[in-house]
This record gives sequence, structure tokens and C-alpha cells, in this order.
Amino acid sequence: MRIDLTNIPSEGKSLHFTLTPDWWKSDLDEDRLMGLEAPLSASIKLYPAGKKIAVEGSLSTRLVMRCDRCLEPYGWDLSTDFRIYLSIAPFKGELDVELSEDDLSLDFIDGEFLDPAQIIREQIILSVPMKTLCRKDCKGLCPVCGCNLNMTRCSCSSTYETSLYQNS
Ligand SMILES: [Zn+2]
Ligand SMILES: [Zn+2]
Repeated sequence: MRIDLTNIPSEGKSLHFTLTPDWWKSDLDEDRLMGLEAPLSASIKLYPAGKKIAVEGSLSTRLVMRCDRCLEPYGWDLSTDFRIYLSIAPFKGELDVELSEDDLSLDFIDGEFLDPAQIIREQIILSVPMKTLCRKDCKGLCPVCGCNLNMTRCSCSSTYETSLYQNS
């Protein structure tokens, strides 16, 4: 999917698309995000905004996250809106991207073409919460034997379990 950014009509350009779960490729920097559990539907609108091109969009899907405490996968519904601005530099028609977050990569620009799926990918990564928990009261793993305390009770000292709670 490629959009020619030098040719956006003044009334804007809208597109709606669906990405299947196998579209997602794992990211080493965000390995708590394991993939998509359901197809992702997205809507994007591009329109000229002064010398820039605004990209407004929304997406919804269900992600597979890995719990920080017990390391088990769990499903997490994501539905989010976003707006970013792209600007075309005055020289050679190269594209420059102005974003509110400094750490966004510019992988979604290829010359004068935009790959909207890459924007969606960036937005998904940005939406991952600081702490991923399969449930609020996840008991995590036993620090002694490593068993999942949500599913089993081990016979290790219960003082470990208490201190685990207090530290988190
Ligand atoms: Zn958990
Ligand atoms: Zn144990």
C-alpha cells in the first residue's frame, strides 16, 4: 500500500483498510507486544494543511500482550485516534516529518510515498501501556520455583509472595 504524497487533492484523500493478524511482525524493542489477536481495521484521511499534509486516523484491534508479572499472553482491546503532520522539504521534494513524539521512526516514508500500514504500526507501538498486566491482581511468578501463582500454589515460603506484592 503506497500513497503518493505529492498528489493529495485539496478535498483530502480517505482510505479504509483491514490488516490481518499475520501482518504484524514482532519488534525487538517492544517484545511485550506479541501480535494481533484479531484483524485490525483502520481509517485514514490525508489532507493538505498549509505546507504540510495532515494524517488523521483511527484504528481498532485486539492485541496479544505479554504480562509483565506472569509472562503469560493475554488479549487487550485497542481503539485509538491519532493525528500527525508530514511536511515536504523545499529541496528535492524530500519529505520531512514533524511529530510530537521524538522517538518515532520515519520508516513509513519511502521517498515521496507513504505506507499507511507503517503509520498504523507506529501508533500501535506508541499505545502500549507502561505496565502490561493480564489482570490487576496478577500474582506473577513464584521467585523461588518459577511457577505461575495465578494457576498453582507452590509450597515455597509465602513471605516471598508478600514481598513481591509490596515491591510492585
Ligand atoms: Zn499476569
Ligand atoms: Zn514456588
